[in-house]
Amino acid sequence: MATNINSPIRIHGIAAFQDNYIWAIDNGEYALVVDPGEAQPVLDYLARQHLTLSTILITHHHGDHTGGINDLSQYFSPTVYGPEKEHIKGVSVSVHPRDTIHIPQLDLDFTILDFAGHTRGHIGYYAPGMLFCGDTLFSAGCGRIFEGSPTDLFQALNTIKQLPLETEIYCAHEYTQNNLQFALDVEPNNLLLHNYAKQVAELRVNNHSTIPTRLSQELLINPFLRTDQESLQHTLKQRFNHIDCTPLALFTFLRAWKNIYPSPLHY
Ligand SMILES: [Zn+2]
Repeated sequence: MATNINSPIRIHGIAAFQDNYIWAIDNGEYALVVDPGEAQPVLDYLARQHLTLSTILITHHHGDHTGGINDLSQYFSPTVYGPEKEHIKGVSVSVHPRDTIHIPQLDLDFTILDFAGHTRGHIGYYAPGMLFCGDTLFSAGCGRIFEGSPTDLFQALNTIKQLPLETEIYCAHEYTQNNLQFALDVEPNNLLLHNYAKQVAELRVNNHSTIPTRLSQELLINPFLRTDQESLQHTLKQRFNHIDCTPLALFTFLRAWKNIYPSPLHY
């Protein structure tokens, strides 16, 4: 349970499927949920906490982020926000990057960010201190590129890098431990990464969440945010002689490598 110190709201991750988080924000009376891939765990949580669902935020069209919209809408009639570029059944308000939306029940404003890459119209929802980024950035990793280009996802990650360092990142999956195996292979000399891997291993062995993660932390350990760092460039140059070390080329290389990991990369 994370608490925002500036307003009386709580943020809670509702576990769904194998490793999804459906994030719920509430003020004790009303709740908003992000990417409800299934309805039942959300309905259970709302009933336990005596909350009324006022709002649903959708980041992209994949079924594990949208599958619960229909049932939740039948119970509560929430306002459902979703990306303009993706036609998602049940979305009542289409939003566009740079829009700002106001959630009156929670007195929260979100700015819509363009996170094309994982899907063509993927968006993020940012309010001071918190980012709901769907499948764009994960702790120690990033989303797969299904519909966009490496340039699109690289730009989305650069947009995240411009946010305040203290921003808590609420991504939609518990992929951290798996991502760390790859990150450690990419940057075996990054001591902070080793420390983080130890912390994460302790959390996971006790079945605790590693999310949210903080932007300041990710900048130190997430290889997909670090392709502009000389230390990472140097490490990869030693291993792959002819590699192009411009940040976008390195990002493209790492994303392609991660897709087949742990198979070896013949470069
Ligand atoms: Zn997805």
